[in-house]
Amino acid sequence: SKSNESLMQRRNAAVARGVSQIHPLVVQRAENATVWDVEGRQYIDFAGGIAVLNTGHRHPKIMDAVKRQMELFTHTCFQVLAYEPYIELCEKLNQLVPGDFAKKTLLVTTGSEALENAVKIARAATGRAGVIAFTGAYHGRTMMTLSMTGKVAPYSAGMGLMPGGVYRAQFPCPLHGVSDEDAIASIERIFKNDAQPQDIAAIVIEPVQGEGGFYVASPAFMAKLRELCDLHGILLVADEVQTGAGRTGSFFAMEQMGVAADLTTFAKSIAGGFPVAGVCGRAEVMDAIAPGGLGGTYAGSPLACAAALAVLDVFEEENLLARSRTLGALIGGRLREVAVNDKRIGDVRGLGAMVACELFTAEGHPHAELTAQVVAKARAKGLILLSCGQYGNVIRILVPLTATDLEVQAGMDIIAECFAELA
Ligand code: PMP
Repeated sequence: SKSNESLMQRRNAAVARGVSQIHPLVVQRAENATVWDVEGRQYIDFAGGIAVLNTGHRHPKIMDAVKRQMELFTHTCFQVLAYEPYIELCEKLNQLVPGDFAKKTLLVTTGSEALENAVKIARAATGRAGVIAFTGAYHGRTMMTLSMTGKVAPYSAGMGLMPGGVYRAQFPCPLHGVSDEDAIASIERIFKNDAQPQDIAAIVIEPVQGEGGFYVASPAFMAKLRELCDLHGILLVADEVQTGAGRTGSFFAMEQMGVAADLTTFAKSIAGGFPVAGVCGRAEVMDAIAPGGLGGTYAGSPLACAAALAVLDVFEEENLLARSRTLGALIGGRLREVAVNDKRIGDVRGLGAMVACELFTAEGHPHAELTAQVVAKARAKGLILLSCGQYGNVIRILVPLTATDLEVQAGMDIIAECFAELA
């Protein structure tokens, strides 16, 4: 029978080394919040394929929807022959995405592609080429999104300079000494030092930074961003690839920010494990690009559209937005309990079920080593965890919203044990 070790050896010999792997395991199968490796070991899944499985692995309603679609057709290319699931998904997202204005939607396949297209659309709509993105941002691995992503190593290291015209503002993060005012001042500094506002097409922001460390932007900061954008005719783009599809307790995190973005990108959990992503926003902005300027062979695959429509149904039927808030309180509460007696946990934060804790040394430096130790020890105890953060010192939790309280409690018990044993 197959072992993790032998398959990892084949993997390392056959797969490009740039594709890294957090856990040295090979999966056999998965169900809701549980995965089994090829050796039959069982794990609680707090990673959810990096924020893709808010509805869990293989949700039966989603499996059924995809099977039904598979019996009809799996591909036509939407630009050749249209199909209703693509149309219906766009109609539903036009309703769901925050913003009290007429909207239209484009479907693509990955989050990176969604961000690429948001920039293309913003450029066409404004006639401007500049983009402002934030420190610690993650927007993808394609060339333009690597310019916007605020971390060079490992994402673009060794690849030379990425496309120009992207200016870096500070993401507000009081924990690390950046106030909302500092962050706004950093944008004013870009206007003064680097590019006049009339050359900026878009400000792109994650309402809760994902890979960067689960830092929540404040509604007050978003209001100021909105004001700056309106003042200068700049489009506000909310990257909801990781925050979207109910992770933060509302379907999109911007619902809790008091202002609407002009364009919203989505991906990941929107289709419960099938690859679809897209851009939704102001109809006139979305229509700035002429016919033929948007699309892709697999963009808005009928299988993924069917899955996404089922995800929306499951959210309603299983009341998953309320569940996201309940789970967030449960997870945050458990982490705060551990933090009471463990000063290495310097912060517990989040929005809805997008929860993280940040680890520091006694001297107050980011504790990446302890973070890696907790992740490894948790795995040995049967829990799949993910870290994140600019300094690799944040443990983030992305458990399926469909996980039971018992499963979540069992996972949190393991985290508490890890901290105790690593004292
Ligand atoms: N934006 C955000 C906020 C993300 O978290 C990610 C993926 N981690 C992306 C964009 C890129 O998505 P993908 O990996 O599907 O290209």
